[in-house]
This record gives sequence, structure tokens and C-alpha cells, in this order.
Amino acid sequence: MKTHPVSRRRFLGQITTVAALAVVPRWGRAADLPVPARKLGVALVGLGSYSRDRLGPALRHTQLCRLTGVVTGDPAKGAAWAREYGFPATSVYGYDTMARLATNPEVDIVYVVTPNGLHAEHCIAAARAGKHVICEKPMANTAAECDAIIAACHAAGVRLTVGYRLHYEPHHAELARLAREQTFGPFMRMKGANGFRMGLPGGWRVNKKLAGGGPLMDMGVYVIQAVCMAKVEAAPVAVTAKFDPSYRPSLFSEVEESVRWTMEFADGAKAECHATYAEGVSRFRAEADRGWASLDEPAFYYEDPVLTTSRGKVNLPNVNHQVAQLDGMAAELLANQPSIAPGEMGRRDLAIVDAIYASAHAAGKRVEVQA
Ligand code: NAD
Repeated sequence: MKTHPVSRRRFLGQITTVAALAVVPRWGRAADLPVPARKLGVALVGLGSYSRDRLGPALRHTQLCRLTGVVTGDPAKGAAWAREYGFPATSVYGYDTMARLATNPEVDIVYVVTPNGLHAEHCIAAARAGKHVICEKPMANTAAECDAIIAACHAAGVRLTVGYRLHYEPHHAELARLAREQTFGPFMRMKGANGFRMGLPGGWRVNKKLAGGGPLMDMGVYVIQAVCMAKVEAAPVAVTAKFDPSYRPSLFSEVEESVRWTMEFADGAKAECHATYAEGVSRFRAEADRGWASLDEPAFYYEDPVLTTSRGKVNLPNVNHQVAQLDGMAAELLANQPSIAPGEMGRRDLAIVDAIYASAHAAGKRVEVQA
């Protein structure tokens, strides 16, 4: 993907500083990363729980980027963030004034952390303001919305990545390496589940327009990611899916409470998957002819995952997922390298989600994936 010409000139001066990043692992511990002359500025869009509890605090520890602005519907909250994080009150924007980001040279990247159904609108506004975009997962409600985001970023010449923190996490990166190098042969049988018990009242996550769907959108995307990672980022050719019966139909009147689906790949590999708002579960296992790999509970949560293979437990460092992701993405951008979590990957995953919903609504009919 092209880099925005104005930002690119600014970045070029820093490339020598970060050239070493090309040879450190993507999840290199912060201490391994050289400090650039100027950290990239990040503006968070949406100051809900993920921004407040994870991304904001992570941006205090990142080596290559820092928080320099926010977009919020609540000016008082924005002013409090400005004081707390030490950026000017003029760098607090509303959702309706995002175009003004264009004139703020302290913001290089806009990170969209609003409900899923608003990602397209906010990513497109960020791209039109000439800023690189990180979009939280799932990238949007549908693959068609992803196409609109990709087109806007392409037209603006800015980079688009998806907040897939686990691509920058050592245990998941090791699973990707085992798959890529075929240490045990190609993974052919996979099984994954991810969920939590949704409390009341549920909020935007049970609202179809804002969430796009239920746990498939929120938790299932991680399972889709792990399966595709185990298949060296191939997309499945087809899926079949069924909704589980609902235990709390009044809470889940607009979106599913639980869904099970199967992904099938061109080489005959199959993955059995489950996403749920009915119980806490988080695990993944991939089997090949000469061995297996298992991400044990909690495979996808913020806590440190445990990776075990048929050769034993794999010892890898535990990292702060958000720091690793933010510095990893900043490093890719500064070195002008392709991202390991690009917008096209987010679009692939929504094409899979679209097919899963189409199958589940057609009583488990096999649906081909338009990835
Ligand atoms: P949240 O409900 O805590 O925050 C959402 C924010 O969006 C709030 O500040 C809210 O005011 C704002 N907002 C703007 N317009 C809104 C509207 N019309 N309705 C409701 N809220 C509106 O949600 P969250 O948990 O922070 O999730 C935000 C995004 O981050 C989601 O896309 C979610 O999937 C993603 N997320 C990712 C991870 C991860 O590990 N990568 C973890 C949590 C959330």
C-alpha cells in the first residue's frame, strides 16, 4: 500500500533510526527497540473501555509512538484525557470534526476504537484527513464495508491495519512460524472456541446495527484468525454454520448468543469453531500428521497464552499485547514495510463472517467464501 506523501517525507528522516527493527522479531521486547528521533503520534477515536483500560495505558509504554490526540463525543472527557496524557486541548476532536485532524501535524495515526458498526464511517473520515488508520477488530460489519474503508485509504495514500494484537504476540507468532515452516507438516485438523458470559444489559454488543452480529463478530474473529494463521493466512473455500439455541432470548433478540461453524480449506483441512456469549472459553488446537500445537486457556484473552506442542511446552516471553501491537505497527510504518495485519486481512475475515452468517441463516447450508 502507498504511504501518504506528506507523512512519508516526515518518516524518511527517521528510517535510519528504525532500520534495525527489520531484524528484530515483531514482538521484540520494548528494551530492544531503538528510540526514534520523534515518536509517531496516535489519536484514539472512541474513549470506551478498550481505549481507557488498554490502549491509553499501553501508549505510555510504547517506544515508537505516543498518544497525541483523541476523538470523542464527550468534550469534558476529552479534556481530561488531554490533561492526563499531556497533549493540548486543541487536539481533542468530536466525531463530526474529524476533518480538522488534517491540519494537526502531531497526529500520524488515527486508531478507531468505536463500536463495529461505526468503524467504516470513522476510518473513512480518518483517511480523508490524510492519517494512517488502525481499525479495531472486527474491521467492520460486512466485507462490503471493508471494501469502502480499503478504497478510502487507497485513495488517500494512507496505510490501513487492523488491531489484531495477537499477530504481535510471541505465542501466536510461534504458531504462525510452525505453520509457515511446516514443522509438523500442514495443519489439517483444527478446533477453536472463544467466548465469555455476557452480563446485563449487553450494550451495543447486542445491537445488530452497532455490533454487526453477536459473539461471532466479537470473539469468533479471534478463532477465524487462529485458523487462518495455522493455514499460513489462506482463506477457507467454504463454511457451514449453525446457531446454538439461546439460553437468554430476551437479551439476544437481535444477535446470536452462540454460533458453531466449520471452515474447509482447498487442501482438505477442516476447522471446527465456536463463539459464544454464554460461557467463558478460549482455546485453540491444530493437528498435523507429524505433531500438534495447542494454545491453552486463555488462548485469546489479554493474559499470557500457553503454547504447547507435541514436543512439549514452548517457553516464550510474555508481553503486553497492546504495547507489542502498537510498537510493531509503528515499526512497520517507519520502516515502510508491509504490515502483518493489513486491511486486506480484516476484509478476508469479514468475508468469512458473511459466509458463516449466510450458512447459519440457511440452516447450515454449505456457503463458499468470497474472500
Ligand atoms: P465500549 O462500549 O467500552 O466503548 C465504545 C466507545 O464508543 C465509547 O466511548 C462510546 O461512547 C463510543 N461511541 C461512539 N458512538 C457510539 C454509539 N453510537 N453507540 C455506542 N458507543 C458509541 O467498547 P469497547 O470494548 O471499547 O470496544 C470498542 C471497539 O474495540 C470494538 O470494535 C471492539 O470489538 C474493539 N475491542 C477490541 C479488543 C481487542 O482485544 N483487540 C478488546 C476490546 C474491544
